[in-house]
Amino acid sequence: MLRLLQWVEVPTAFKDNLKLKQTSAFDRLARARYLWRMRIVLLGAPGSGKGTQAQRLVTRLGVPQISTGDLLRSAVARGTGYGLRAKAAMEIGQLVVDEIVLGIIRERLAESDAALGYVLDGFPRNLAQAEALASMLASIKQPLDAVVLFEVDYGEIARRIAGRRTCPKCGTIYNVHDAATPGITHCKTCVPPPLLTQRPDDNEQTVTKRLAVYDEQTKPLIAHYRAQGLLRTINAQGSVDDVTARLLQALKIKG
Ligand code: AMP
Repeated sequence: MLRLLQWVEVPTAFKDNLKLKQTSAFDRLARARYLWRMRIVLLGAPGSGKGTQAQRLVTRLGVPQISTGDLLRSAVARGTGYGLRAKAAMEIGQLVVDEIVLGIIRERLAESDAALGYVLDGFPRNLAQAEALASMLASIKQPLDAVVLFEVDYGEIARRIAGRRTCPKCGTIYNVHDAATPGITHCKTCVPPPLLTQRPDDNEQTVTKRLAVYDEQTKPLIAHYRAQGLLRTINAQGSVDDVTARLLQALKIKG
């Protein structure tokens, strides 16, 4: 039934109700394949936990996380044309020019796994990107379902960024300040466990710049998406599990 509804315009509330009724009858894989084609944007300052929660939504919904930061870091590491042009801006905490980011996102959204929906993490980051995304999605009749704003104090952000570590092999994000992983140094899932790394732009000076850029260029998206009725706001402080619970509730996904 929901599969058919994807091709006709019906009110979102009706589809939401139907999803909730049907989820108990399907296992997680079936739910991911047939029901949840959610296109979600995670919005929030750097270090607000978007990446960590996006990784959890990937497991829950079976849709890919699309992080422009990860795509750009990969382009830089591979030395592609986009990467070479993006590197300098990333090192000083500035936004990479829209032309590059939009080129990268257009290519990624065209990949087959994105047809199941996706979690956009770190994109869009300014109004021009939001408008470009809206027109890309309008042309394929696949509008966004929700934009979730992560609210965290800037003091807490500085602490989180200083403690953030990433597994170079599987990309899992950890935090040395997290009660579940205090002082963590090695990945908990990879065998043999690689030493976790710290992002080069996760230093105090660059973080101050990144937060200023967020205030100036990304924050206007809050009013933009609120006016479209897409915005849902969550308190993103507290344990990772608590934030996941709030996120699922905001998206009306059963925990
Ligand atoms: P992130 O991993 O999301 O914190 O992004 C790391 C860096 O990549 C940012 O500080 C920017 O330099 C760049 N970046 C990531 N996403 C975007 C975007 N949507 N627009 C412009 N620059 C971006």
